[in-house]
Order: sequence, then C-alpha cells, then structure tokens
Amino acid sequence: MKHARVACHGAIHDAVEENGVLKLADGRLVNFDDVIWLPPINPGTIFALGLNYADHANEISFNAPEEPLVFLKGPNTLIGHNGVTRRPANVEMMHYECELVVVIGKKARNVKREDAYDYVSGYTIANDYAIRDYLENYYRPNLAVKNRDTLTPIGPWFVEKHDIKDPMNLKLYTYVNGELKQEGSTKDMIFDIPFLIEYLSSFMTLNENDLILTGTPKGTVNVVEGDEVVVEIEGIGSLQNTIVGDKEFAR
Ligand code: MG
Repeated sequence: MKHARVACHGAIHDAVEENGVLKLADGRLVNFDDVIWLPPINPGTIFALGLNYADHANEISFNAPEEPLVFLKGPNTLIGHNGVTRRPANVEMMHYECELVVVIGKKARNVKREDAYDYVSGYTIANDYAIRDYLENYYRPNLAVKNRDTLTPIGPWFVEKHDIKDPMNLKLYTYVNGELKQEGSTKDMIFDIPFLIEYLSSFMTLNENDLILTGTPKGTVNVVEGDEVVVEIEGIGSLQNTIVGDKEFAR
C-alpha cells in the first residue's frame, strides 16, 4: 500500500492511494492536485550515501569508496512532492540525485545482513540535490553542499516493504523538463541495503523512521532556475520539484 502525508481541508492528514485518488484517514477522497504533499515520513536520523554507484563516482572524478561514505542530513532539508527548491545566485553546479530511500521500521543494533530486511518498514524516493560549489576543503564536509533548506524533496509515497519484491533491482530515472537525463538500477549499488543496515547498526542504534538515502547513479547534470525535475523509481513513484531563484524567498 502507498501512504502519504498531505495538507488539505485546513489540516494535515495521513492518506493512502486508492484507485488514483487519495483516501484520507477520515474516509474522505481527495484528488492528487487538491493537496499539498508533505514528506511521507517524519524522520529520525537521516543518513545519506556518497558515491554508492561506481559510475557516478567516476562521473564526478572520485574513485569508488572501499567502505561506505555516509553523511547526515537535517530534517530542515526535506520538502514534499511538487515543492520548490532554491538555487542560490552565483553558483555554477547544482545537480539532482535520484535515490532510493530505505525507511527503518524498528530499533536496530548489531543487525546481521541476513536479518536486515526485518528492520525495514518500506521505501520512498528522495532527490538529494547537491550544490558542488560549496565542496571546498581537504575534509570535503558536505554540510553546505547538502543541508540547505529545501534541498531534499522526498516522497510522494511511503511504500510498504512487502509491496517491493526486490529493492535491489529497481530502475531509477530523472527527467529535467520532460527529458530523460539520468537512468540506472539499484542493482548497481556498491554497498547494498543489507550491508548498509549491518554496517550502520554495528556502531550506532537505528530507530523507527530513520532514513537511509542510498546514493545515485551516473547522469547528474546542472539544473537552473525554472527547471522542472522529476525523479522516479520503478514501483515506488514519481517525485516532482521545481528549481527557483533567490527572489522567490526575498519577497
Ligand atoms: Mg546523494
């Protein structure tokens, strides 16, 4: 089943998809276009993988990592489906990243890879935008690259685990203004979902609604103000976002 969180009728609602419309928890049916889509999960810790597809690592001139390169993202970065993302003036390279998001379903510590899916509740999609201009020193902290407000559209749906037969074999696509720009498959991840859960839970506790953004394949190109960016994952959905400039925020 596909779950969403939306604002409509003056309140925030949990909803599910039913025959092409949203069914609110109170039973009302609402069209997709008549709601504001919110991030489908209210997250705990948000993990994100850097360079988890070898072809993308090569594309931005890095070697594929030998152990997971993980960073954290703040909840301030998240926005829902059909939202707008700010591209600061005077930056040269801002690109999208279509990513499968794993949603943790329960407390996890020292999980073995063969048990890892027991700790997953389901999946969603993120567009992990990056502004490369801010990646600047030896330690390459990507705080300013990845943690600016609005930089991570997520959703529209949270899809339950049992609805996705093989999360390690899903097609990913990104369209910019309707044109296909990025295409890949989750089967090409360097560190797969069981590995990541085993790895993270080996030194810290994972909790319900923690998110793992699992990285992006090759095909990341610059986007500019006015671009409409759609990231899509087979069986999970299609997440739309529009790039806007500073003036949108300075009114
Ligand atoms: Mg990423």
